[in-house]
Amino acid sequence: AKQTGRNAVQFYAPHMNAHAIDRLALEGALRGALRDDQFELYFQPQVDLGSGRVVGTEALIRWRHPDFGTVRPDRFIGLAEETGLIVPIGDWVLRAACRQNRAWQHAGLGPLRIAVNLSARQFSEPGLVQNVRRVLDETGLAAPSLEIELTESMMMADVEAAIETMRCLKAMGVKLSIDDFGTGYSSLAYLKRFPVDVLKIDRSFIRDIVGSPDGAAMVDAIISLAHGLRMQVIAEGVETLEQLDYLRGCGCDEVQGHIYARPEPVREVELLLRKGTME
Ligand code: C2E
Ligand code: CA
Ligand code: CA
Ligand code: CA
Repeated sequence: AKQTGRNAVQFYAPHMNAHAIDRLALEGALRGALRDDQFELYFQPQVDLGSGRVVGTEALIRWRHPDFGTVRPDRFIGLAEETGLIVPIGDWVLRAACRQNRAWQHAGLGPLRIAVNLSARQFSEPGLVQNVRRVLDETGLAAPSLEIELTESMMMADVEAAIETMRCLKAMGVKLSIDDFGTGYSSLAYLKRFPVDVLKIDRSFIRDIVGSPDGAAMVDAIISLAHGLRMQVIAEGVETLEQLDYLRGCGCDEVQGHIYARPEPVREVELLLRKGTME
């Protein structure tokens, strides 16, 4: 029998294949997770390359399952998207992230920024802008301390609607970034139309820096392009000193990756924030 956790309903019907059973079980378990407060945020530091200081963190969701332990988002975000559960889950993430960042600021841990991932479904919800406004009001976080991460495919699904939503968020003072840049389908022609503050270079490009002159040239070019469009650049998934040195040479602004820190629970990341610097 499949273990689905004490809160999950188990479905066994002969006409269903194993896949359908898994999906139903997972969906039930996800509802239970929301109800029973099993989600938790981990935070990964974002480090300014010039000063070595932690300037922000990215909030990354984890699921503390009573039987399975800590579950990574790749295992459940997809299904949460399909079922629409991502909307209440994403809402919880936004609120918890803003509240935590406000608490850190209140504790004197610097004017930190918090980056929150949005799903496609959340981004196209009609109430998104008001909801962000409400969360900022309720948590007392200043809008410029919140950065919302969007992907190219979310922006390209309906370009005009996306630009309108982005403008509303920008008007509020919230920062916007393009996540996983270079991996989605998008046109450079649109890049300059998107009111985006930060471009996050996907880890696949960072991995290619060393050992491939073409890979290194790509990263250099992306950084120049972003700076030309007055965007800041964050390199994702930086793991080695060679990568770090190369990025520094290219004028990359910030780095996020295992070389500095993995995503950590509140307590652990707080120790790094208190130290302030990663150098
Ligand atoms: P992402 O937004 O691209 O987040 C970065 C992922 O890269 C994280 O995986 C992080 O742990 C991992 N990472 C960071 N530095 C390194 C490194 O140096 N090397 C390697 N190999 N990996 C590194 P994580 O936390 O498992 O999240 C996976 C994805 O799940 C995220 O990718 C994001 O797309 C999604 N996700 C996470 N939290 C949320 C959320 O609250 N809402 C939504 N909608 N999606 C989320
Ligand atoms: Ca992200
Ligand atoms: Ca990313
Ligand atoms: Ca990703």
